Amino acid sequence: MENGKGLLLDPGGMEIFPPVLSTISREIKMDDIEILFCSHQDPDICSSLSLWFGVCKNMKVYVPSIWSLFIPHFGSDRTLYQIPDAGMTLPLGGSDELQLIPAHYCHSSGNFSLYDPTAKILFSGDIGAALLPKDNSGIFVEDFDRHVQYIEGFHKRWMPSKTAKNQWIERVRKLDINMMCPQHGAIYKKAEAEKFLDWFEELEVGSAENI
Ligand code: FE
Repeated sequence: MENGKGLLLDPGGMEIFPPVLSTISREIKMDDIEILFCSHQDPDICSSLSLWFGVCKNMKVYVPSIWSLFIPHFGSDRTLYQIPDAGMTLPLGGSDELQLIPAHYCHSSGNFSLYDPTAKILFSGDIGAALLPKDNSGIFVEDFDRHVQYIEGFHKRWMPSKTAKNQWIERVRKLDINMMCPQHGAIYKKAEAEKFLDWFEELEVGSAENI
């Protein structure tokens, strides 16, 4: 939220729309949601799009430019704003602080991370995502070395380009990050986020071995 105006970031699939709507409604009026941002095109990111259009009358939707002809298939009769490949800032509540950092091919071919320089939070989408066992209910990554078992297979399979991955790492190393919040799994605090970047830099990706 910024000056009472809200942004929905990767609001999710249509199957979770009711609980997400009910939770968000406790914090903000739907008419005050100015922006819906889709980091990429996956159904778990934005198949709920048409339902959000139904309740948020003043909302502008921003999507990666190369997905602007695909995402409307989730149901959209309104204009989608295209994010250029180089990224941009998002205008929210009269401010334009929020930065969209290019994260192409990590894993989607048109993909962005969102950085909030005030909160110093990097919303990293599928980068850093973990497939946690059901009995792991921790919000934060407590022990990165132990956490690797939950992220390694996912990153090897879903990150197709070593070059693109390392370009993203170079970009985000310039940011002051207090927390890195991926779309799935657990949140990385500062020290764990740094360990993740070091680990990710060394990781061999884009290999078809063992498939
Ligand atoms: Fe995805």
